Amino acid sequence: MNIDKIVILSLKHFTLSSIIEVAIPVPLHNTFDYLCDQKVSIGARVKVPFGQKKVTAIVLSHKKKSDFDKLRSVEEILDQKALLSKEILDFLFWSAKYYHHPLGEVFASALPKNLRQGKSAVIKKTITHNNTTSPCAFDATNEQKKAIQAVLKSVNNFHGFLLQGVTGSGKTEVYLSITETLLKKRRQVLILVPEIGLTPQMIARFEERVEAKVVAVHSQLNETQKLDAYLMAKTGEAGVVLGTRSAIFTPMPNLGLVIVDEEHDGSFKQQSSFRYSARDLSFIRAKLANIPLILGTATPSLETLKNVVDKKLTQLVLSSRPGQAIMPDVNLIDMRNQTAEALSVPLVAKMKHHLEDNKQVMLFINRRGYAPVFYCTDCDWKAECVRCDSALIYHSHINRLKCHHCGIEKIPESTCPSCHQQSLKVLGYGTQRLEENLESFFPDVTIIRIDRDTTRRKKAFATHLEKINSGEPCIIVGTQMLAKGHDFSNLTFVGILDVDVGLLSMDFRATEHLAQLLIQVSGRAGRSDHKGEVSIQTRYPNHPIFNFIRSSHYSQYASTLLKEREDTQLPPYSHQALICANSKNKNNAEKFLNKVADLLKKIDIDSVEIWGPVPAVIEKKANYYYFNLYLQSINRNHLHRVIKTFYKHLETINVKTSVRWFLDVDPID
Ligand code: ADP
Ligand code: ZN
Ligand code: ZN
Repeated sequence: MNIDKIVILSLKHFTLSSIIEVAIPVPLHNTFDYLCDQKVSIGARVKVPFGQKKVTAIVLSHKKKSDFDKLRSVEEILDQKALLSKEILDFLFWSAKYYHHPLGEVFASALPKNLRQGKSAVIKKTITHNNTTSPCAFDATNEQKKAIQAVLKSVNNFHGFLLQGVTGSGKTEVYLSITETLLKKRRQVLILVPEIGLTPQMIARFEERVEAKVVAVHSQLNETQKLDAYLMAKTGEAGVVLGTRSAIFTPMPNLGLVIVDEEHDGSFKQQSSFRYSARDLSFIRAKLANIPLILGTATPSLETLKNVVDKKLTQLVLSSRPGQAIMPDVNLIDMRNQTAEALSVPLVAKMKHHLEDNKQVMLFINRRGYAPVFYCTDCDWKAECVRCDSALIYHSHINRLKCHHCGIEKIPESTCPSCHQQSLKVLGYGTQRLEENLESFFPDVTIIRIDRDTTRRKKAFATHLEKINSGEPCIIVGTQMLAKGHDFSNLTFVGILDVDVGLLSMDFRATEHLAQLLIQVSGRAGRSDHKGEVSIQTRYPNHPIFNFIRSSHYSQYASTLLKEREDTQLPPYSHQALICANSKNKNNAEKFLNKVADLLKKIDIDSVEIWGPVPAVIEKKANYYYFNLYLQSINRNHLHRVIKTFYKHLETINVKTSVRWFLDVDPID
């Protein structure tokens, strides 16, 4: 036994122990009480025994009495001062309550791993600032000035803004200008960006412009870097925090503005464990700090547009690109008249034209791998995953069939397993096959493929981007990783392949997402002073979506979609929650949800509709069967009251241990 422990043990005889309430990262909805004979701040971390283990807990309150007797004692106080301020604690309480998620897990997801594991909260290596800042080289346009002034007017109040401007219209300049002003007032700025939108370019732009320290928070950092960034934000040393969704929980004592760039992007929603929307939470963060919020995008989500209609957000518009840059021409290629499966004759001709002009071209296809179908031309057989309800995708460089849902891989058959003929073929295109096909059309042109397979290694994405930014003529082939705000100044042509899947989808959000994607991808073309051109290949050229895309009238299209949602009472005109259950035995998950549905229906709150259970779109994934139960109401409070009551009575349902389930509030798919 070490000396410290002896001291503590003997102290116990003299001081009357008091009680603290803590949050512990376990999937339980309650908090826990411990004895603590030392002074400890609310918001500090302590090490406590929990079952057989020792865990890091956060102190929530001091108590005189507990409902439990035989309390265990705190083992160690990890922070002398509070790690989490009252503001952050309130924010985390709010989040846990709204998403009905265990408080301890919410706290855990808000802390970097090193702090979760009890390591000391000291900065290892201070991020230094590069001294070579340069001021803005041009005057803001009138629209930019108006937007900047509107936001600066409410620096001491909560006020939400939608900054809507096409890609290249100068939104980032607006962020930079407001940030500069706020930094002079010693305020901090938090900027959230999509998962793959956090490019070195964006970080560099802030570093070049602002005098303050800029820290980035994203998954590519190592744990020490993550901890340092977190602590520099917390001490106020960092003026700007640029991060992906979990950065919404970064403690910033002088927070003066929250920006969510590309607010429509799906990656702001966490899709596992604690399922939250960082975009939605940004409202609460800004409200608690009483500061402005900017949601920026060219293609606002329907939720955000409804908030504008309801006057919860003020819309600021940047209607054109500054200077010379003009919007690209968008044309359609009717694939019903084309024999080629992927690269139509007009598409290849346009690519040639732009390449001969020493420009870069980009082809966008939303599927990685070589080909999505491996099938027999003699019978109906087609390669499918044995563990999932999905086709296997052929990857040629490793000669494997891969399942993109569970990751399983196998060597392709050489004869058909069903009719034993040697008549197996691939059908359709992924990025890899497209790249191969392009090599035969353009043998002398550099082809850069960007998808999850080519960017898996650290820094691979940055290396690709560097190559593109050199401006040399090349063909860029990629998935939606390319749709995010990258500024390729010598890119003048964008070809979009295979959009028809989105037009045929059953998901009520599919057309909204497709319209956003098409506008975003088109926005890559012609960013400086070259006019861009966009070609979209489709077998449905008469679909109404294309009229709006061609004329860049996203807002008009969005209003027609919004009207449809109103007529059908779908979100954002109603609120949903999803209870998803899965099990290896198909019946168990469905049975569990049937019991849940019975329980929910007994709760006497009308206006909450319950649908299901229904099998998930892909019913079987990695040998587990997935079922969904939907709750929907036009009244958000009613919906949440039903969920709360459901949790209270949950123990009346006997859940088989083989059934895993979760609740998703405001699900997006
Ligand atoms: P967005 O964030 O909307 O895509 P950016 O802020 O990146 O747009 O601006 C696009 C390009 O236009 C950048 O190269 C930027 O430096 C330039 N730019 C922005 N505002 C102006 C302006 N007022 N005058 C001239 N150029 C501008
Ligand atoms: Zn066959
Ligand atoms: Zn699979």
